[in-house]
Amino acid sequence: MEFLASLLKHGVNVEYCRILVKNFYHKCVKNTHLIFHLFKQHTARCDLCNNLSNGELLCQTCQQDIPHFRLPQGANNLLLWPAIDKIFPKRKFDRLLCYAPYVWPYDVWLKQFKYNARFEIAPLLAQLLTASWQEHLKHFSNSQWLEEHCLITSVPIHFSKWKTRGFNQAHLIAKKFAKVNKLPYQPNLLSRIKKGDSQVGQSGAFRRKNLSNAFEINKVLLNNAKYIIVIDDVITTGTTVNEISKILKNHGVEQVLVMTIALSLPTKN
Ligand SMILES: [Zn+2]
Repeated sequence: MEFLASLLKHGVNVEYCRILVKNFYHKCVKNTHLIFHLFKQHTARCDLCNNLSNGELLCQTCQQDIPHFRLPQGANNLLLWPAIDKIFPKRKFDRLLCYAPYVWPYDVWLKQFKYNARFEIAPLLAQLLTASWQEHLKHFSNSQWLEEHCLITSVPIHFSKWKTRGFNQAHLIAKKFAKVNKLPYQPNLLSRIKKGDSQVGQSGAFRRKNLSNAFEINKVLLNNAKYIIVIDDVITTGTTVNEISKILKNHGVEQVLVMTIALSLPTKN
């Protein structure tokens, strides 16, 4: 009605009609989103306990209840925990933030995300990383410097893997994390140029050899950034992020902070 009344008032003007149709379309889209949001809010159930979850993937109770690392001292940097520092003896990265050990429900979520393309998990994972990051900033004296000078990137996958899987799970988490925290994200800073064999169950020496010179850096995109946050879904031996940290530092980066959802303790060295 509003549309027809405007037409009668202004006469038939092509440009004016175009603007009216465009506005009408935007209103429809906005209302559809609103209806969908309200529907989701009143029907969504928690992924773990199946109770109503107010539109979230997890209800408040489960969110508080799932296991996660709590390190009140040391700004959540797991490398300050001697037992974990020992796992990465020749590490090239400077800080490590992992939200939780690689146990249920993280193992299930990460597999569903990676192998079943369950994309709705990405915002939840980004939210968990945000909690780790905020905790880190709270206890880290130079947090201002960190926030102002850091650049986020994600662990890249080889093109052949991307062709089979269709997406890079680390990129999807990092993109969401950067958006939520209003930090600059550069997904193409690194590229994986060496395909490599599967690393599951392989020794540390094999992994290092397998990943040697596996990554390439885009110097233009690095733009002299001194502080890089590298995001991945899970860290095991740290060989991949070590290789990445090495190349970043060879190009003038001062500090590398590795951030993952889970820490999976290696079974072999
Ligand atoms: Zn729940």
